[in-house]
Amino acid sequence: MNILLIGSGGREHALAYAIAKSPLTSRLYAAPGNAGVAQEAELVALDVADHAAVIAFCKEKAIDFVVVGPEGPLVEGIVDDLAAAGIKAFGPSKAAAQLEGSKGFTKDLCAEASIPTAAYGRFADKEKALAYLRQQGAPIVVKADGLAAGKGVVVAMTLAEAEAAVNACFDGSFGAAGAEVVIEEFLTGEEASFFVLSDGKTALPLVAAQDHKRAFDGDEGPNTGGMGAYTPAPVASDAVIARTMEEIILPTIETLAKRGTPFKGVLFAGLMIGESGPKLIEYNTRFGDPECQVITLRLKEDLLPLLIATAEGTLDQHTATWSDDVALTVVMAAKGYPGAYEKNTEIKGLEAAGKVEGVKIFHAGTKADGGRILATGGRVLNVTATGKTVAEARERAYKAVDLIDWPEGFCRRDIAWRAL
Ligand code: AMP
Repeated sequence: MNILLIGSGGREHALAYAIAKSPLTSRLYAAPGNAGVAQEAELVALDVADHAAVIAFCKEKAIDFVVVGPEGPLVEGIVDDLAAAGIKAFGPSKAAAQLEGSKGFTKDLCAEASIPTAAYGRFADKEKALAYLRQQGAPIVVKADGLAAGKGVVVAMTLAEAEAAVNACFDGSFGAAGAEVVIEEFLTGEEASFFVLSDGKTALPLVAAQDHKRAFDGDEGPNTGGMGAYTPAPVASDAVIARTMEEIILPTIETLAKRGTPFKGVLFAGLMIGESGPKLIEYNTRFGDPECQVITLRLKEDLLPLLIATAEGTLDQHTATWSDDVALTVVMAAKGYPGAYEKNTEIKGLEAAGKVEGVKIFHAGTKADGGRILATGGRVLNVTATGKTVAEARERAYKAVDLIDWPEGFCRRDIAWRAL
């Protein structure tokens, strides 16, 4: 098969690595990719927001299957447009991607299907939102309704902070994404990310992972896209996963199917696991980044047939089995991230780092410049390792990190502290 992979992050490097290994793959293209993806795929400079251009490329190269990595193109309906052109793709339709594209949509679905989640209010009017805040009091959580690149959520410990967040939303800080706000009850517990493939009818559970959202050690500093991850996540016990499937995932899939907008793709449930069991914090409709990098390393099956079965509606004929190894990834980011940072700095030592036992380095914001590798983004590398234990995987990952010579980069030194 000829495959086109859309995206340019560490998640897409991990997907490219898995897809390139599949005996089903004849040619793999990636748009736009990065210097790591280029080791697995032929990069194409396509504007993925231009769906007509993507379709024309697929026809020219006889692409059999498109794998969409990030949420943006899904929410923009790229899978619907490809389907209309007769091209099969992995990822939900625009209607089903609303699970990620609108927090209010998901909260209303939870209410309809009695899915455990934080109590909430949804407002398009600032004064009504502020009145609800004052009635509820702090701590409380304020969210821009739409896609805001992970920046639209404020966990407010005081009423003043919450009011400022509501004002920022309605003052246009998040553009159209802030036209509505969702205000939520503050949940306590431990967070985990849980992944499920669904073809609209069948749900095939994958595994859970834990992410590290804050920039600095000890969960200090600003929120980021994720500074590291590991799987398995001890908090997501078999009992917790069984309840999550029963109380959260299956009702979601059934409700969307009943509405005539079945969910086909990977459902990423952000969970808060507290005393009363798992509650849904949010859904994403694509693999997590950096969770994808660790999950795919533990999968024993070929990933590509699972992605195809998800799109074709034949997931009931598949299973997913997992290595007992721990997989762990350390994100190396440019100093200053998630704020401003320098670009086009040179990274050295990648070859030696990649030779550490059990280590695989996935690239995120990188580009090749002749023989050099340059950092072009905020999150730049995912130094990923497997091991028999968390301690072993972590030791291997940091051994590789220490061989990377990139003075303009930084990473957290405490990935997987909860598991240790
Ligand atoms: P989200 O983008 O919705 O995943 O939110 C980002 C982060 O904010 C989550 O990973 C949680 O740490 C936190 N958060 C979101 N909603 C809540 C909530 N209702 N209670 C407590 N923390 C929350």
